Amino acid sequence: MIRPKTALFCTLHCVAAYNCAMSGRLTPQTESPLHVVHAVCSHDCPDSCAVLVSVDADGRAQKVAGDPDHPVTRGFLCGKVARYLDRVYSPDRLLYPMRRRASVAKGPLPAGHEAESFERISWDEALDTIAHQLAVITSEHGPESVLPYSYAGTIGVLGYGSMDRRFFHRLGASQLDRTICATAGGDAILSVYGRKLGTDTEQFHRARLIIAWGANIHGNSVHLWPQIEAARRAGARLIVIDPYQTRTAKLADWHIAIHPGTDVALALGMMHVIFTEGLEDRAYIDQHTVGAKELSDRAAEYTPERVAAWTGMTAEEVRALAREYATAKPAAIRLNYGIQRSENGGTAARAVCMLPLLTGAWKDLGGGLQLSTSGAFRFNTRTLERPDLMYASPLGRAARIVNMSLLGHALTELSDPPVKALFVYNSNPAAIAPNQNTVLRGMARPDLFTVVHEQFWTDTADYADIVLPATTFLEHADLQGAYGHYYVQLSDQAIAPVGEARSNVWLFGQLGQRIGFSEACFRDTEQELLAQALPDPKQDEALETHPQMHGITLDQLRAQHSVRLRWAGEPDVPFQPFANGGFGTPSGKGELFSAALAAQGLDPLPSFKPPKESRHSAGSAYPLEFLPRKADNYMNSTFANLAPHQKMESAHTGRLEIHPDDAGRRGIQEGDAVEVFNDRGRIRLVAQVHTGVPAGVVASRLNWNKLSPGGSNVNALTSERLTDIGRGPTFYSTLVEVARVAPSPHG
Ligand code: SF4
Repeated sequence: MIRPKTALFCTLHCVAAYNCAMSGRLTPQTESPLHVVHAVCSHDCPDSCAVLVSVDADGRAQKVAGDPDHPVTRGFLCGKVARYLDRVYSPDRLLYPMRRRASVAKGPLPAGHEAESFERISWDEALDTIAHQLAVITSEHGPESVLPYSYAGTIGVLGYGSMDRRFFHRLGASQLDRTICATAGGDAILSVYGRKLGTDTEQFHRARLIIAWGANIHGNSVHLWPQIEAARRAGARLIVIDPYQTRTAKLADWHIAIHPGTDVALALGMMHVIFTEGLEDRAYIDQHTVGAKELSDRAAEYTPERVAAWTGMTAEEVRALAREYATAKPAAIRLNYGIQRSENGGTAARAVCMLPLLTGAWKDLGGGLQLSTSGAFRFNTRTLERPDLMYASPLGRAARIVNMSLLGHALTELSDPPVKALFVYNSNPAAIAPNQNTVLRGMARPDLFTVVHEQFWTDTADYADIVLPATTFLEHADLQGAYGHYYVQLSDQAIAPVGEARSNVWLFGQLGQRIGFSEACFRDTEQELLAQALPDPKQDEALETHPQMHGITLDQLRAQHSVRLRWAGEPDVPFQPFANGGFGTPSGKGELFSAALAAQGLDPLPSFKPPKESRHSAGSAYPLEFLPRKADNYMNSTFANLAPHQKMESAHTGRLEIHPDDAGRRGIQEGDAVEVFNDRGRIRLVAQVHTGVPAGVVASRLNWNKLSPGGSNVNALTSERLTDIGRGPTFYSTLVEVARVAPSPHG
C-alpha cells in the first residue's frame, strides 16, 4: 500500500503543517523557523522507525519524534531513541580525526580521558596516513592481510554496505563473513521457506494466540507491542518461551522457562503431539510441503516425556502447548534471534519455523511466523558493493573469507597472510565479539595497524592507531528496508555533520581516491548511490522474485518518505506469505526435509543434540548455564555510554542474576561480590538473587568493558564455537561457575 499521506489531513505541499496536525508536537513551518525532516532510525532493530526531526534556522536539531502517520511507528519512538539529541550533541562525541601518541600502548583507556592518549590531526593527514599504511601493508603481506570489520551499527542501505565494500573489494582485502547476529536463523528459515518473509506486523492484532519464542517484544521490537495488546483485548493469549523472565514474559499469560538450548526438543515434542493427535492441517501439508512423512517419523521419537526431561517442562505442559498452538486460529509465532545463538541454534530455528507449515497457520490472516521480513526488500547491492572490483585488485580473484565470529582466531592465529590491518566501522568488536580475551590479545598487537570509524570512544577505539569521527543517522542520507515491517523508507539528512564527522560513503570514497583507485565509482556521491540503490527492472533479473519492489522510485520516496511494498501488485492488499505457496526453495514447497542440507552432510531433519556447553553435557567443571543477555536499554553495545540509558539500566548493570538454590549452594547472598569464570576468562559482578532465572542458569547483561567492574564484560566467558547451521556465534551455549568473592581483610 502506498500510504495516503495527505488524503486525510492536509495537502502534500504542506508537510510540516500536516505533521503538526497529526502529532500536536511539531511546529508548523509557517509560524516558526523550525522545519521538519523525515529520517529513519538506522539502529539495529526490526522496527526501522520513521523519525521526524525538527530543525531550527541555525541548522540545529531541536526535537525527534516518531512519525504519527507511519502505520508501524505510530508516533512513538522507543526509550533508547526518544532522547536521541542527547546522543547526537553529546559532549563525548568523537569530533575530529585522532592519531595515537607514539608513547601510548594499545589497550583499555580510562573512560572520559581517552583523547589524552591521542592527538588531533586533519582529515587530510588521516586519509594520507591510512592510504600510506594500507599500501605498505598490502605490498608487504598481500591485500588479504587487511581485514574490514563491520556490522549493523547502521542498517541503512548505504551505511551498512556500499562504498566501503567497493573500497575493500578493489583493495583485495579479506572479505568478512558477517555472521555475528543472524546467519544461523537466516539460513534456517531459508532452508525451510527459501525466502525470509514473515507474518505482517500490522496483522498480529488478528491473532488469537501469540507465542513469543525467544522474543522480548516489549523490550526489543516495541512497535509490535500495540498489536499484541489489541489482540489480547480481543481475547488472544500470549505465551512466552524463554529461559529468562524478560519484560515480555512478566506480561504473558503463560511463561515457559525452558532450559537454554532445548528449543529443538520442544518444537519436536509439539510436532509429536500434533501428528499423533491428528491436529495437523493435512490439506495444507499435502499441497504446500515436502517431507512430512519423514518429519513425522522423526517427531515420533520425541515423546512429551522425553522432551520434558530435556526442557524442564512437564509432559502435560508439552501436550497442552502443542494442543493450544494447533487449535487456536489465527496462531502467530514471533521468533527472535536469541534461540539461534546456541550450538544447535540453526536447527532450533528450523524446527520452530516448521510449526506453521504443519498447522496451516499461514492461511489465517494474522497467523504464521515472523523471524524477519528482510527478504521482501531487494536493493541493488551488486551495483552498490561492486564485488567485481576484486578482480581488478592485485589479487585478480575473489578474496578469502574471514568469519567475523572468529575474530580472536583471525587476529592471533590466521596465517597466509596474517591480519596486519584491521579497519573497524559500524561495530565495537572489543565488546561484542565472543572469546574476548583472545580478541583483545589480538587487537593489542603492536604490529597490527587499526583504524576505527566511530561516534564515541568505544572499547574498540581504545585499540586504534587512527580514530575517525562518524556521523549519526541525522547527519547523512540513506535508504532503508526493515526486518520487522514491509515499508521502504528514505532517510533525509537532517543536520550538518557534528564536528568533522563523516559518513561511511564519504570516508571510503575519499580513501579510494587517495589510494589511487581510478574507477569512477569512487567519486559517486551519496545522492548518486541512492539512485543506484533501487533495482532497475530492466537490468535486475532478481526482481522477478521481488515483484513487490517494482515501480518504487526515488522520486516517490522523496515525496512520500515511506512506501509500502506492493503485494499482488495492488495497494491495500494484506500480505499473507505462504498462504498459497510462494516458497523459494528448490522444490518450490515448504521443505520439512531438506535435501540441500543433506548434500552438505547435515541432518535433513531436525533432531535435538544438546549443546556441548549445557547441563546435558557430562563432566564439565562449570555447572551453570550462562546467558550473556543484551541490555534492555542499550542496542547491543550502542547507548551504553550515555547517562540517561545507564540510569534506565542501573538496576541490572554489573549484576549476576542467580536463582536462590544456586546462590544458597555457594553461600552467596543478595549484593555479594561474585566472580563468574570458566577456562576462557573471569568477570566480577554483584549477585542479584531471584527466581526470574531458573535454577542452573545465571544471567548478566552486555556492557562496555571499560564500564564493567574489572574491565571485562560477559564476552570474556563466551567461546568461538560456531552454530550447527550458518557458522554464527554461540553466546548462549556457555558454561560457568560462580564463587563469592571474600571481602578483603583491608576493607
Ligand atoms: S531503536 Fe527501534 S524502536 Fe527504537 S527508534 Fe530505532 S527503530 Fe524505533
